[in-house]
Amino acid sequence: MSIANLYLLRKRRNLNQKNYRERHPEKVAAYLRKRYLKTRTLQIAKSIEWQKENAERHKNNCIAYRKNNPEKRLKWQKEWVKNNPEKVKEIKRVAKYKRRAGLKANAIPFSASQWAEKVKSYSGMCAYCDTGKYEHQDHVVPVSRGGPHSLNNLVPACKSCNYKKGVQIWTPRPPISIA
Ligand SMILES: [Zn+2]
Repeated sequence: MSIANLYLLRKRRNLNQKNYRERHPEKVAAYLRKRYLKTRTLQIAKSIEWQKENAERHKNNCIAYRKNNPEKRLKWQKEWVKNNPEKVKEIKRVAKYKRRAGLKANAIPFSASQWAEKVKSYSGMCAYCDTGKYEHQDHVVPVSRGGPHSLNNLVPACKSCNYKKGVQIWTPRPPISIA
């Protein structure tokens, strides 16, 4: 076959393919989708294998990714919470139990009047922002991080600071001395 013929043949074939694609867009879409899924499955299998062989590196990559994409992380978390109500319930239940157990195991008793004095030493205001009123007892070092339920580890806090603080450790302002 001459080169010119080969060229014509190929041109005609391309034209046929083009016509076919134009007449059957749904078939083309289905084909592309199938091809995509096939390569995607292969890619996922490959990357899972890599993750297994490089567990430590993969873990660090994940941590870095989550840190660098806080808005994506928040979105995933929200979706996960929405899609896993039973698991969320269980996590909350365990956290509550752990918190109670932690409080019990790690408590240094104090009296109500001792606490009232402490609140007074902060003029009844939040020990963090000094603009909100005392609404919550806040563990400076959270119970979940080994902080004791003791007078020394408790400060009065406003609701807003208490929620914002979460499991972080904030330094409260020093109390004013009571005469
Ligand atoms: Zn506050």
